Amino acid sequence: MAENGNRFIKQANLIDGQWLAADSGATIDVINPASNKIIGTIPKSGKAETARAIDAAAAAFKSWRKTTANERAQKMRKLHDLILANQDALAEVLTMEQGKSLAESKGEVASSAAYILWYAEEARRMYGDIVPSPWADRRIMVTKEPVGVVAAITPWNFPSSMLARKIGPALASGCTIVVKPATQTPYSGLAWGLLCEEAGIPAGVVNIVTGSASEIGGEITRNALVRKLTFTGSTEIGKLLMKQTAGTVKKVSMELGGNAPFIVFDDADLDRAVAGAIAAKFRNSGQTCVCTNRFFVQSKIYNRFIEKFTEAVEQLKVGNGLEDGTQQGPLIDMKAVEKVEEFIADAEKKGGRIVTGGKRHALGGSYFEPTVIADAKPRMRFTKEEIFGPVAPVYKFRSEDEVIELANNTEYGLACYFYTQDLGRAFRVMEGLKYGLVGVNEGLISTVEAPFGGMKESGLGKEGGHQGIEDYLDTKYVCLGGLGL
Ligand code: ADP
Repeated sequence: MAENGNRFIKQANLIDGQWLAADSGATIDVINPASNKIIGTIPKSGKAETARAIDAAAAAFKSWRKTTANERAQKMRKLHDLILANQDALAEVLTMEQGKSLAESKGEVASSAAYILWYAEEARRMYGDIVPSPWADRRIMVTKEPVGVVAAITPWNFPSSMLARKIGPALASGCTIVVKPATQTPYSGLAWGLLCEEAGIPAGVVNIVTGSASEIGGEITRNALVRKLTFTGSTEIGKLLMKQTAGTVKKVSMELGGNAPFIVFDDADLDRAVAGAIAAKFRNSGQTCVCTNRFFVQSKIYNRFIEKFTEAVEQLKVGNGLEDGTQQGPLIDMKAVEKVEEFIADAEKKGGRIVTGGKRHALGGSYFEPTVIADAKPRMRFTKEEIFGPVAPVYKFRSEDEVIELANNTEYGLACYFYTQDLGRAFRVMEGLKYGLVGVNEGLISTVEAPFGGMKESGLGKEGGHQGIEDYLDTKYVCLGGLGL
């Protein structure tokens, strides 16, 4: 058990119901970004441990797939209850390894529980079809069955809920799973193993391996027993994994990068737009794939928006996520800080005006000042690239057509937001934007009931909604002939 006594700091991998070290005994340190101190270690596993986890998942699939939807749903309800019963301890671990405020961590853990409950309910609605037959003596049935062993690779920004979105549908559909959490934030991932055990989910159904991303990823993508890969992370690694899975033609779901536009029209409710802008930019210190990357504000309202937005940004309390009242924790590491600094330097060089923030925070380490940059221009780097930090560039636009074109001028298509009180415009803009998630007069829209997922290079597949389970199912057509009808 870890020094601070939190039992969710589990320093081992879960393979076939056993908590194990890496074969070599090698470990990796896990750092708290708020203090730069080591929280604990995790096994540095690789190809061999991953192959064994996949074998265990394949063996467990034989019996898990035969359980009834109701049995699986019961265990998942138990898992849901256990997550909520341990919400505080899970949130503490999340904040320690990730940096976000405790309030946000608690929210994330609650969202994890909500995903498990949602999929527990969906397990019982995996309907097939009986189709009118073109033959008098044959009948057509279409059934849904679990794809088999699923592999999940998740990022550090939502280490708990990104796994809930993958473990949930896998368990519900009757699949088994091998999980690789991000190396920076492994304990929120390993916690799933402890909770699944306590919920009575059999050994081998959920396996968790930490360590070398390329070795684990290499084995997952090469191994023919894995029938589906679900990945949340960067577009760059997503593309690599898609290439790697081609050899064994796996199903893939990809939640990749974003370049979210946030559009404020002259007729918007300004206070509402400012509140939405804060939520859509500064949640998790700007480190989410649905965070606003580009603010577009119409010319008449531009100066007033900058003024009110800046006032709100200056109110944000930066600090250690474990301290009361903190709204902005540190960035994940110093590399993230350097990247943010590069974006700011590039913008300044090209005529950007820093209205507030712009530099490392006085708290030191990877803390960074919430930043607003006015007079943003298309030639600045963040027009194309994901910032993933607390920097808000604000561009000025004139017409509706112009801003739709600007907003769509990116290879990404995950989230977008716009503010207007004109109903006709709301429909025109909503239909014009090539994005998988659209917030109209709302800056925070993710919820388990709706399908989350991107268009274009932001990804493939949906998580949540009634659509979410589909990616975990194979469709089978059965022709029943010779019925003598
Ligand atoms: P981020 O920029 O959010 O860290 P990444 O795409 O690099 O995004 O990481 C997301 C997840 O993918 C993490 O769990 C990471 O360890 C994993 N990952 C990174 N490189 C590879 C790889 N070559 N093969 C498999 N997984 C990888």
